[in-house]
Amino acid sequence: MLRTLLLAVGLGTVALPAAALAESPLLLRNVHLVPMTAEGVVEGVSVLVRDGKIAAIGRDGTLDQPTDARIIDGRGRYLMPGLIEMHVHLRRRIALDLFLGHGVTTARNMDGTDQVLAWRDAIADGSLRGPALTSGSPFLHRSAQDSPERFVGSVDDAVRMTNLYASRGYDYIKIAELDDEPFYSLMAEAERVGIPVVGHIPNYDLDLARILEARMSSIEHIEELFRVYFEYQPDESKIPAFVELVRRSGVPISTLIASEEVKNELFAERKAYLTEERRAWIERYGGPAAVEGLGSTIEAIDNGDWERHWVDVDFLLRLVRELHDAGVVLVPGTDSGGSVLISGLGLHRELELFQRAGLSPYEALRTATVNAARVLGKLDRIGTIEVGKDADLILTEGNPLVDLAAAREPVGMVLADRWIDADELAELRGRTIADEP
Ligand SMILES: [Zn+2]
Repeated sequence: MLRTLLLAVGLGTVALPAAALAESPLLLRNVHLVPMTAEGVVEGVSVLVRDGKIAAIGRDGTLDQPTDARIIDGRGRYLMPGLIEMHVHLRRRIALDLFLGHGVTTARNMDGTDQVLAWRDAIADGSLRGPALTSGSPFLHRSAQDSPERFVGSVDDAVRMTNLYASRGYDYIKIAELDDEPFYSLMAEAERVGIPVVGHIPNYDLDLARILEARMSSIEHIEELFRVYFEYQPDESKIPAFVELVRRSGVPISTLIASEEVKNELFAERKAYLTEERRAWIERYGGPAAVEGLGSTIEAIDNGDWERHWVDVDFLLRLVRELHDAGVVLVPGTDSGGSVLISGLGLHRELELFQRAGLSPYEALRTATVNAARVLGKLDRIGTIEVGKDADLILTEGNPLVDLAAAREPVGMVLADRWIDADELAELRGRTIADEP
């Protein structure tokens, strides 16, 4: 195992040529490396970061130390790739800080705005600190007659909106609910234009096999697959055929199970959900408006027929386990920013649920590193610790392959060529809406 790992990370064998410019290089010494290229830890390693890239990896004492290097003593802590959160709703500026504080160095936004594009670009050019962002367009919906930026009621709309959002620089088209014809036209146009499509099951009248055949780049909310295929009945006998259908399609699934758990709590507890403690917690990150919003959601639940929206989370976890075992690419998403899950923290809840489903900590962490990087089309740049990749790294006190919780509150982070220390990360985790510029 050790040998494989050493080969996988190319210990001491490769170094990138030094590029001119920028910050002084960073040399992280005395770390236990969790490269995520294979399961395991390599002890006593040094990693050299130059110009935002991993320039060299080697046994402690074997790397040439540039004279201008800033030395960080890892003190036997664990260095792993930064985490990737695949389904967020970025609305508040503090979310960027909360992500970093909780080890998230890349996030995929699922409802586009000009503001998010501006943040994405500012982070990319180094003028704003935050996780690397990609963003879907405003989500497209067949019933959004009141919002012209979302409404897709016809094939013409589908074609027009696809071109509009591709030309505005969005990374994906995000779909919510669409009729059949607009959906298939949108998929064809997106392929022609060269922009991936992500989002919900377009409508529940469609057959799951046909939806999967349309080859969206990822389908969000595993619970929707459950609804459309199992029709809300946790029927175990249908699992094998379901798993085979999804596996054969090759379509990655973004899970969002923690958000179902929260919804279940809301359906069950209703007004009792908003305890003083929860109210304070929600207000801390979202302000009074978030508490009010949740209050009206609860009121709607109280007045509606919501029992049918309750989903058996344990059955979803069973599906996670079976899909995972079959080799389906699963990635973690949370809806944080659009639900009561807190940015950054929500991802760790999702990973804990994967562990409850029966995945090992390594398998769970792979979903938020290797799998997510692959779905983003960036596995050549992020997702593992290897020479030549972007230096998006987190340092954890304990071994995350033994206890997932170790990754929740990192004690160090390399973000491109910046080093963020434990105190600063703790401060970022402590940010509240009151700290927003
Ligand atoms: Zn969402």
